[in-house]
Amino acid sequence: ERVDFITFFHHIIDRFEMNKAEEIILDRKLPNKEFFVWMDKDKLTQVVDNIISNAIKYSPDGGRITFRVDNNRNRLMVSITDQGMGIAQEKVDKIFDRFYRADKARSRNLGGTGLGLAIAKEIIEAHHGHIWAESKEGKGTTVHFTLPLIKKSGGDKR
Ligand code: ATP
Ligand code: MG
Repeated sequence: ERVDFITFFHHIIDRFEMNKAEEIILDRKLPNKEFFVWMDKDKLTQVVDNIISNAIKYSPDGGRITFRVDNNRNRLMVSITDQGMGIAQEKVDKIFDRFYRADKARSRNLGGTGLGLAIAKEIIEAHHGHIWAESKEGKGTTVHFTLPLIKKSGGDKR
């Protein structure tokens, strides 16, 4: 289905805004235009839900979660940044593996199966995008993903 990612993203963030704890700030740095992509909305909701839930779950002291969307030629670039516990450098790429959970998540008994990001990766790749993370232990994490943009010409006449 053809979807404006910005509208879609606002709706998901709105839902988290209604349920979040006071010590968490959701900061939307989103452009005031439309960015159309083809997506399975239910599946992308699952991806974004997991990334935001992680940002909250792995930020035990709260803090700011920043949402950004950019475009680079024919790609939409989405990023979600938290100020949580972060992930050690050598483990950042493993978080997309099935059942992988970083030590701190395990030792703090934060609930989860370690499947969320593995599923997210499968879904993003099925949409011809990429997903990756950057992190600094003790400082925070950014999860990025891309999706192909629909070119303006011809896209809206279906
Ligand atoms: P599930 O999502 O299946 O309930 P989970 O959250 O443990 O469980 P993933 O979402 O796949 O699983 O994340 C894998 C691991 O990556 C987490 O257990 C955690 O160690 C680490 N991780 C993911 N997101 C963050 C984040 N924002 N900050 C710090 N660590 C993170
Ligand atoms: Mg998770």
